[in-house]
Amino acid sequence: MNASPPLAIAGAGPAGLVAATLLSRAGRRVVVHEKNATVGARFVGDLQVIEDASDRRETVPAMFARLGLPAPAWVPVRAAEFFDSRMRRFPIASKEPYGWFVTRGPGEGTLDRTLLSGALDAGAEVRFRSRLEAAADLVATGPQTPDGLARETAFETDGTTRVRVLYDPAVAPGGYAYLFTVGGRGTFGCAIVRDLGGIDRYFEKAKEKLLSVDDVPMEGPRDAYSFMNFALAPESTRDGRPAAGEAGAFQDYLFGLGMRYAISSGALAAEALLSGGDFAALAREKFGRRQRVSIVNRFLYEAGGAFGLSLFARLATRVDFRRVLSAFYRPGPVRLALAPLVEALWKNRGRCAHRLPPHWCRAREREIRSPELGRIG
Ligand SMILES: Cc1cc2nc3c(=O)[nH]c(=O)nc-3n(C[C@H](O)[C@H](O)[C@H](O)COP(=O)(O)OP(=O)(O)OC[C@H]3O[C@@H](n4cnc5c(N)ncnc54)[C@H](O)[C@@H]3O)c2cc1C
Repeated sequence: MNASPPLAIAGAGPAGLVAATLLSRAGRRVVVHEKNATVGARFVGDLQVIEDASDRRETVPAMFARLGLPAPAWVPVRAAEFFDSRMRRFPIASKEPYGWFVTRGPGEGTLDRTLLSGALDAGAEVRFRSRLEAAADLVATGPQTPDGLARETAFETDGTTRVRVLYDPAVAPGGYAYLFTVGGRGTFGCAIVRDLGGIDRYFEKAKEKLLSVDDVPMEGPRDAYSFMNFALAPESTRDGRPAAGEAGAFQDYLFGLGMRYAISSGALAAEALLSGGDFAALAREKFGRRQRVSIVNRFLYEAGGAFGLSLFARLATRVDFRRVLSAFYRPGPVRLALAPLVEALWKNRGRCAHRLPPHWCRAREREIRSPELGRIG
């Protein structure tokens, strides 16, 4: 029996569960505290994409295999249709998958349930309805306050595969709207980073536009609001303790595809806890440059407006899309050189409502007015 006190992890999202699995497998006693009654409580069986372009040396299935994580029910994605503000259609494709669809939420087969099973099988204990703050050895509590906000509808549908993304600042300011139907499941969503209080209005406008393409059967719709952080943290620690996933400000600031970061930062936190290594230094080395470039990408994305987004969609049709995406994620010298400029230019010195490690952020005011949003978080 291992007599040392158990390691306490706050949060049973991908970051916390991956760390719990690796620590338990290495023989450490682990207790994961989850404030909600289930894993994935903020999601409703919606489809999300684990991007497979930021690390061209290791695919997502290879990463799961290397970490010994159970694979969720996933579907590779190699094609999509992008639409610009004038609803011009741009088909994109890649030879190898640029992402993997998974479902999120408490239900059977979701990423959350699969990672939970992996952690339990490895010997971790998971305590639900247990909120943990100061006493955590690893903070993996997810986003803290909305920098980006999404409204989604998850539903059952026909067998047609549709992967559609609408880039239109008038219906999704700073974000995008999406319609995915894969294997009989569907998700429509609108994600924004400005005028957050207008989410319902944007959602309806985006829906009208994206659903005008064809008739999409929508059975058993389930709606949810959820948010994400876009705040660059130089130190991914909270009071000296590692903070993984979005709690540590690990995020793909371009598209908000934070799952791969959550998994890899959770794994890195486990490694640091096992070796006694300095998580902040390890994280800076592994993710620092990519994150700074990611902030530049977000700046360009928001500054580009309708014209820039249309240009992006047009360019994406011409080349293998995995290559396009991976070029965006690569910390190339030009965008790295732009990073300090963007950080200085873009820094909003207003009130910051995050509970994050010391970080740079745009300090969004809380703009939310919709009564529905009482349910988020
Ligand atoms: C609508 C939407 C769509 C998205 N789509 C994609 C996508 O397509 N691809 C992608 O890669 N990413 C996507 N993301 C982002 C992705 O979901 C997150 O980046 C990822 O879930 C972060 O994982 P995490 O473990 O850091 O946090 P979470 O998944 O948020 O998990 C944190 C957990 O901690 C718990 N918790 C919080 N506070 C406490 C506390 N004090 N004590 C105990 N437990 C606590 C929470 O209940 C939660 O279960 C999307 C996000 C949203 C909102």
